[in-house]
Amino acid sequence: MDTTSAPLPGAPGPDSWDLAGRTALVTGAASGIGRACAVALAAAGARVYVVDVAAEAAEAVAGETGGTAHVVDLSDPVAVDSLPDDADIVVNNAGLQHVAPLHEFPPERFTLIQRVMVEAPFRILRRTLPHMYARGWGRVVNISSVHGLRASAFKSAYVTAKHGLEGLSKTVALEGAPHGVTSNCINPGYVRTPLVENQVAAQAAAHGIGEDEVVERIMLDRTAIKRLIEPAEVAEAALWLCSPHASYMTGTSLPLDGGWTAR
Ligand code: NAD
Repeated sequence: MDTTSAPLPGAPGPDSWDLAGRTALVTGAASGIGRACAVALAAAGARVYVVDVAAEAAEAVAGETGGTAHVVDLSDPVAVDSLPDDADIVVNNAGLQHVAPLHEFPPERFTLIQRVMVEAPFRILRRTLPHMYARGWGRVVNISSVHGLRASAFKSAYVTAKHGLEGLSKTVALEGAPHGVTSNCINPGYVRTPLVENQVAAQAAAHGIGEDEVVERIMLDRTAIKRLIEPAEVAEAALWLCSPHASYMTGTSLPLDGGWTAR
């Protein structure tokens, strides 16, 4: 076998995971999936803007990753527009949940969820895309959800927001392609994070069952693989989307859902 042969055309080089010289802005980076993304991107060499409303935890992740904490409430448009606009990679991840039947759903919670999970990504991208276009390279990773592809009862605001994020992601894919910018969604099933731990209690109350039953009967009911996914597994997918291995992938939604959407 000829071991000196040239790599296949289009194959990424040996240092293809190297993100040195790139700057990544990660929202909701103080906890769960966002923190895991910040850690993974920093380990690959990126400078990280750790964006979160939770000041102490954001500072801790900034310390851990050698990044910079930006403590902002993403429901405040003025604060969102004060964030740095020189990111090469944007991970739109911050999110929150509210579980209630639609006819009892508080309108102000619905508005808050759209602000944080749809309007803030739009505002961040409209200010960072010109920088990416100028450099001819950019990666937008939107942490959507199975709920960007499927609905569940009692989650009207969240399902609406995630479907909105999917539309935003696809539009950015079309506009960004001539400038070397890709935009994709990652669609996890239930991930072992504080957001899910809080939901277990809320779902138990909504369905009138115990918390163990929520995990086994509701959360894992629709997945073929009967375990929660870990934040680091989601971050690995985000990192891959930032690598040359995924440079032809744009406008897609990548389910990491243990087979949920195979049904
Ligand atoms: P998490 O609760 O662990 O972390 C969310 C982070 O977002 C927190 O640090 C929080 O402070 C921050 N945040 C919330 N509101 C904010 C605001 N107004 N301004 C600034 N920061 C704010 O949650 P997670 O599970 O890591 O979720 C992260 C993303 O992944 C969310 O968009 C969520 O919808 C999505 N997701 C989670 C799961 C899951 O099972 N955990 C599944 C699919 C998708």
